[in-house]
Amino acid sequence: MDSTWINAPAKINIGLDVLRRREDGYHEVKMIMQSIRLFDRLTLTKSSEPGIRLTTNLHFLPVNEDNLVYRSAKLLMDEFQIEGGLDIHLDKRIPVAAGMAGGSTDAASCMLALNRLYRLGLSKRQLMKRGLTLGADIPYCVLKGTALSEGIGEKLSTIPRMPDCYILIAKPGIHVSTRFVYSNLVLDDHTPHPDIDAMIDAMRQRDLHGLCALLGNVLETVTIPAHPEIASIKQYMMESGALGSLMSGSGPTVFGIFDDLDRAKAAREQCRQLPYRCFAFVTDLYR
Ligand code: ATP
Repeated sequence: MDSTWINAPAKINIGLDVLRRREDGYHEVKMIMQSIRLFDRLTLTKSSEPGIRLTTNLHFLPVNEDNLVYRSAKLLMDEFQIEGGLDIHLDKRIPVAAGMAGGSTDAASCMLALNRLYRLGLSKRQLMKRGLTLGADIPYCVLKGTALSEGIGEKLSTIPRMPDCYILIAKPGIHVSTRFVYSNLVLDDHTPHPDIDAMIDAMRQRDLHGLCALLGNVLETVTIPAHPEIASIKQYMMESGALGSLMSGSGPTVFGIFDDLDRAKAAREQCRQLPYRCFAFVTDLYR
């Protein structure tokens, strides 16, 4: 086998809580992660010319060590002293810097594909351990599906599957810096924390309505005051029949959960008409 490809799914946070800021500056989180059917595609081809060459359909993305795909490939190629070179093409579909772990899922999928292409024989656990050295969300992106993420994101546990539903993704054309959001997060007695354990119970009972009533993301306390469009999109989705709506990660992506595909598609058309250029897409869960 000289070539292989892999789909790298985006994630959303069904619930996101930050428990405390650690002395080393990292934040201790408690998040419910869910993969969705929105994918980047990576194609890896062995080459006789040494080195890693990355190409992508998005001209503004780095194609050197600043791209997590490049770094993850280099990590495994160096460790296993792989001879020859590698051409990687990244077909980017997941919005960039959107709170959907685009870079992390690309890195995780690159390692999964490289493991297969060169028959390295690494288990998922072994890939997750290596992925963690490049980014806190990469171990989850190797695992995929529904998971609880704790610690700085590296402690993963499987939880009951999220009930079937349709997901409307809307990403307004605004830029949100993850660093800005975390550094402006105030954790005190007034901070509204989502009840992640109650959310997991609702998932166990396959209670989609109950789950949607509990959706919460503590980072909205920072991102929404800075970008009120996010609150309007959430409201818009609820008025369009969403059972629940939430910002994903540090934003600006908002998702809505629907139990009816036609209603989700109608809401997508409405989002596309919004004045602040909205990428809008209806999909479902990736198991
Ligand atoms: P998270 O949800 O983990 O915070 P995100 O979806 O907000 O991630 P990314 O799309 O991963 O953010 O991109 C953040 C930055 O990382 C971008 O500014 C980009 O230049 C850089 N980057 C490096 N590698 C990639 C990649 N493969 N895809 C997208 N961005 C990448």
